[in-house]
Amino acid sequence: MRRVVCPGSFDPVTNGHIDIISRASTLFDEVIVAVGVNQSKARLFTADERLSMLAEVCDGYDNVRIDSFDGLLTDFCRDRGARAIVKGLRAVSDFDYELQMAQMNSSLAAVETVFVPTSPEYSFLASSLVKEVATFGGDVSRLVPPLVLKRLTERLSGRGGAGRPGETG
Ligand code: ADP
Repeated sequence: MRRVVCPGSFDPVTNGHIDIISRASTLFDEVIVAVGVNQSKARLFTADERLSMLAEVCDGYDNVRIDSFDGLLTDFCRDRGARAIVKGLRAVSDFDYELQMAQMNSSLAAVETVFVPTSPEYSFLASSLVKEVATFGGDVSRLVPPLVLKRLTERLSGRGGAGRPGETG
């Protein structure tokens, strides 16, 4: 069984994330989407909200499951029996950091990192940018799934619970 982990904060999940998750699901037997729930970082959506949006948008993939981690990613991989981490690479600018992280992780545990190049239509896409554009009323409907768009709109208009980008934990 080739099991891999797709880690991230997914605050919120975008079409770029789904592209990588879906392609990983065709390459490996099982994909665990791992949501980092480090309390010290400010998030727009709570861990439970991020997990539930991911669960809904990944519902159609039989070999994808959603989980969370709160410590070292390599410990999580070992505990779940995953031998590899899948990361999307958007641009050369992602590469320096991702290479360093991949080498650090493989020095900590027997875990390889597999890089999947982003599809060109998503190479500019990041959760932080989606939140920024949406905050100022920009149209992000082609960048996130409909249910995320709905929750984002509610949250930013103050109807859906917590606060604006950077205000919640
Ligand atoms: P982080 O908070 O660590 O930046 P994100 O939740 O934004 O994590 O993203 C998690 C991972 O998803 C990234 O490390 C990257 O591998 C992948 N990813 C994010 N956005 C895209 C995209 N537009 N195209 C391809 N991969 C992406």
